[in-house]
Order: sequence, then C-alpha cells, then structure tokens
Amino acid sequence: MNEFQERGPRRVGQVKEVTSLANPVIKDIKALTSKKTREETGTFMAEGLKLVIDALELGWTIRTLVYAKAAKGKPLVEQVAAKTVASGGLVLEVSEKVISSITRRDNPQMVVGIFDQRWTTLRDIHPKPGETWVALDRVRDPGNLGTIIRTVDAAGASGVILVGEATDPFSLETVRATMGSVFAVPVAKATAEEFLAWKKGAGVSVVATHLAGAVDYRTIDYKKKPVVILMGNEQSGLPDMLAKEADALARIPQSGRADSLNLAVATAVMLFEARRHILTLSETR
Ligand code: SAM
Repeated sequence: MNEFQERGPRRVGQVKEVTSLANPVIKDIKALTSKKTREETGTFMAEGLKLVIDALELGWTIRTLVYAKAAKGKPLVEQVAAKTVASGGLVLEVSEKVISSITRRDNPQMVVGIFDQRWTTLRDIHPKPGETWVALDRVRDPGNLGTIIRTVDAAGASGVILVGEATDPFSLETVRATMGSVFAVPVAKATAEEFLAWKKGAGVSVVATHLAGAVDYRTIDYKKKPVVILMGNEQSGLPDMLAKEADALARIPQSGRADSLNLAVATAVMLFEARRHILTLSETR
C-alpha cells in the first residue's frame, strides 16, 4: 500500500518539507508515471498552479500538493496549500531538484497536484438535444487524446468515450496536452460491444468518420438528435464492426497528397462543424 491508497478517513492535513529524492512519499509520486500505479491508486498528477486552481474550483479531490521552495509565500500558492490542508490532503514543500525529478523536467512547474481520478460510466451518459460527444476507437497517442479533450472543451461538446484499448487520459503526457481541460471534460471507457449496446438505447446519431465515407461532413444534419462523432484509430482507421453500425459515414474532403488528416485535427474539424450547427453566435467568444 502506498501514500495514495489510503481510503479510510482522511488524515488531518499537514505540511512537510522534503529535500531527499529517497523520501518514500516522493518515490510514490514518481511511481505515478506508471499506468499500473495510477490504476492501483486511482490517482494522477497534474502540473502547474493554474491547473491545480482549476481542478479545485471544479471540485476534484486533491491528495497531495507539491510546491517548490521558490513558490513559498506566493498568495495563490498559499491559498491552494490551505485548501489542500483543509480537505485533509498532504502539502509538500520541496527543493527544485525534487520537483524536477517528479516532473522529469529541467524547468519544472513550481506546483504539482496529485488528484483522484474521475471516470464517467457509459450508463450515466444520457445525451440531451444539442449535445455533441466524441467516441474514439482505440486511440493510441497521448498527445492526440489530450488535444482532443482540450478541443472538446473548447468546442462546447459534452465529453469523450474511449472505445476499446486506449491510451490513459490520466498519463502525464495526456494531462499536459489537455492544458487543464481534463478537469472539465467527462471521460468514459467502454469495449466496442458495450459502446454499440449503449448506442441502441441512447437516442443518439453516430456520425463515424472514414476515409471512404460516403457523405461530405458539411452536409450532415447535426441538430436532429444528439450526435456522437466516432473517430478511427490512428494507424488502422475505423473497423467494419463499428463503421457498419454508424448512422452516417462522413468524409472530410481533402486536397493535395496527404492520405488523411491527423486524428486530433480531423476530430477538431468535425467538432467545430457540428457545434456550428448548434451554437448561436452569442454562445461563443
Ligand atoms: N490509415 C488510416 C485509415 O486508413 O483510416 C488513417 C487513420 S486517420 C490518421 C485517423 C482517423 O481520423 C480516421 O480513422 C478517421 O476517423 C479520421 N480522419 C482523418 N482524415 C479524415 C478524412 N479526410 N475524412 C474523414 N475522417 C478522417
């Protein structure tokens, strides 16, 4: 059992000073670079004061706050430290060497938070009129997933469903690429079979994107029902078992020599088109 596995009554919050890389708490935090440890502990790491403030404002549970000595006394850092202590979390004041080794960066952020993961379950997703969701088939690349979560947030879409074996939304690389949107966008995971079973009862229109899609993505009615935009895997595209269950197979017409668009770029094009049909001008900035 490690620092983040305590599930009983939360301890009274406390502040500790740590300068040694051999400190067991630091070792536990560094172990969060492994997916297995993140799954076992149900926690993950987010870097940067802004992200930590956003997460706390959105009600995420912080287990540990780590800040570099140089950040001590800054009013916002003091505020998040006080909030962490008040909610029973641990606050660590560490040397720059320690925070560099936690984040594996030479120029590390001054603040790092360890939070409980939060997953949405498919059976709790009941898309309402005007909502747009994104489903990703076996997304592999953490940068793509993070960028898509950020884009879902920016486009005013409702969330992401990870279909099949996917990269971890709570890895450091994905969280970095979300730029904080990981705290604002619900994420669920499902097998392909679970996703198709859910689709039957959810009252949604699944618009799958496919290089051989028959329909120009600009001609689709995105308003008729809540829409799930289904995107294929980076290497192999969308498998037939998912493509044949879609309500439309959409294609983004291309020019030039490129075979396809990058997954995150294609998702952004689809999302902003779908949302353009739904949002009025006054709903965007
Ligand atoms: N070699 C893959 C294939 O044959 O499908 C390319 C996959 S592409 C990098 C990743 C995903 O982005 C595709 O499965 C599709 O969902 C979407 N995509 C990329 N470009 C697209 C386009 N021009 N029209 C529709 N979907 C596209």
